[in-house]
Amino acid sequence: MEAKKQEFKAEIAEMLDLVVNSLYSKKEIFLRELVSNASDAVDRAKYLGLTQKELVADNPDWAIEIAVDRTAKTMMVTDNGIGMDAADLEKSLGTIASSGTKAFRQALKEKGGEALPELIGQFGVGFYAAFMVADRVRVVTKKRGTDAAFQWESDMTGGYVISDAERADYGTSVMLHLRDDQVEYLDYWRVADLVKKYSDFIAYPIRFRTVDVPKDEKDDDRKSREEREAKPMNTMVALWKRARKDVKDEEYAEFYKHLTHDYDGPFETIPFSGEGQVEFKALLFIPKKATMDLFVPQQKRGLSLYVRNVFIGDDIEMLLPQWLRFVKGVVDSSDLPLNVSREMLQDDAVIAKIKSAVTAKILSSLEDLKKKGDRYDEFFNAFGTVLKEGVHTDWEHADRIKKLLKYPTARSDAGRRVFLEDYVKDMPSDQKDIYYICAEREEDARRAPQLEQARKHGCDVLLFCDPVDEYLTESLREFDGKKFVDVAKGDVQFGSDDEKKAEKSANEKAAGELRPFIETVKKQLDKDVSDVRVSTRLAESPCCLVAREYALSPAMVRMMKAMHQDVPEEKRILELNAAHPLVRKVAALAGDEQKDAISLLYDSALIAEGSPIADGAKFTKLLANLMLK
Ligand code: ADP
Repeated sequence: MEAKKQEFKAEIAEMLDLVVNSLYSKKEIFLRELVSNASDAVDRAKYLGLTQKELVADNPDWAIEIAVDRTAKTMMVTDNGIGMDAADLEKSLGTIASSGTKAFRQALKEKGGEALPELIGQFGVGFYAAFMVADRVRVVTKKRGTDAAFQWESDMTGGYVISDAERADYGTSVMLHLRDDQVEYLDYWRVADLVKKYSDFIAYPIRFRTVDVPKDEKDDDRKSREEREAKPMNTMVALWKRARKDVKDEEYAEFYKHLTHDYDGPFETIPFSGEGQVEFKALLFIPKKATMDLFVPQQKRGLSLYVRNVFIGDDIEMLLPQWLRFVKGVVDSSDLPLNVSREMLQDDAVIAKIKSAVTAKILSSLEDLKKKGDRYDEFFNAFGTVLKEGVHTDWEHADRIKKLLKYPTARSDAGRRVFLEDYVKDMPSDQKDIYYICAEREEDARRAPQLEQARKHGCDVLLFCDPVDEYLTESLREFDGKKFVDVAKGDVQFGSDDEKKAEKSANEKAAGELRPFIETVKKQLDKDVSDVRVSTRLAESPCCLVAREYALSPAMVRMMKAMHQDVPEEKRILELNAAHPLVRKVAALAGDEQKDAISLLYDSALIAEGSPIADGAKFTKLLANLMLK
């Protein structure tokens, strides 16, 4: 045929310009695209060969080769797949749907260079990614079922030329003349790394070949090179497609490390096969430790997605709910089109179904793990906080998530936590609600005077000391039909109805007796507290501070202030233990002596709950005076 230089259609020229000039940093994906095309070409030849035997009469060993010539600075990707004739070359590498370019240009403009690999996949222009690293590309190809070979050549700016060529075997070679600043791709290890990273599970062997073997190559070097080049760089088997019983733990661990760069290995491995509405395979991992960025909103999260063995992308967050963002792994589905883009995944029905199946699987794995005592605690210590978010954000699974939560309690040993169902099981028969208290530190919570009556009545109290716990109280609402009640807020009373009644009348009596004293205290502490009253929650302590039922705890207020949030100042209520001798004693005092004692009482209530006092110097002075007496 006559070699004639042809200009690229305007759209292609423009698209090439976009590809090459985009500031995209990961030029390396060109190799994924070329290997993926090669694999497709083999797939097609194999498929057609099933019915047209003459196409595969040469009985090919299906394979892909990456041959590099360091001297000439070329890389050649060769397959023995279907091949192309002149018309195919013209159609496949000379034109693209113009509507496609327009959309491509639009998308690239909107999303910026970093979105290029997705866009390349989405718009089916992967071949042109070669121009990110090469200034000249030559394709030599011979189509199965024909006798003639052709070549397509382009330096991008000057259009392309299709002409006759020489080629013995069927298939296609794509030869890249690498740009001077892209010679890293001539290195075996760099290439092997890329193959591992992007194309490990391509179903055909991908081998490396050095073209310009030095004449004076040492024997040892030759031997190790030949060994390297004889072996495929990819494993070819998708681990998630093999039955669990056939895979060694170390193999899973190696894959996990490769996937996550977490060299500790996984805590739990969950292979999983989805059947029914959508068919997919998944290989999920729970890491041993939380990464530092688990609470950074921009952190990359999500699973890797393969469609029919072809890597689509990692960090696909649509495959996992937020509260499972610590889970790592891979999903492989054949129910998705190969050219899916992230944007399309956003509201894809198949993805939604996979996400829901994956969520259910992880939940049931955690429910199994729950039976394993200490091992579950290990998990919960690492990821409990993230899990708790699910109660707030995922109403569909909130009830199941609640059953996975553990809390320290006033009664449990330090460091121990209990499940809500165990807390409920241990409730005295007259306890109706689930009690909790919020504090920054477990020690503070345990010492809180607000727990005293609960303790005396045999009621345990959950200690909410994780910063998310207080946020969550609203979403927790109830468990097993029981409300969550803060023992440091509102009115709480303990014991049987009779006991409550008796206590109420005793309280009223005490309040009557202490009325003048209560009025004095209220006047003196007017700036600090909203009210002063007789307490129902104290046993040993003389006094404590409590909030309205819906008010924020002091721990929460401090945290919000630390985060520079506006927090409405809300005065709390000072509760006095009417039965306490100290209260009675102070009530009997008069003048400055009583004033100082009231001030000390108030400060001691703050100290008892772990809150700072306003005037430390004054406090110590008053205390010193008292001790001198
Ligand atoms: P896509 O692969 O998404 O269609 P590309 O730009 O990567 O887009 O490739 C364009 C077309 O060129 C392919 O659809 C295919 O028909 C053809 N092609 C590319 N590489 C090869 C190859 N190695 N063997 C046969 N055909 C190929």
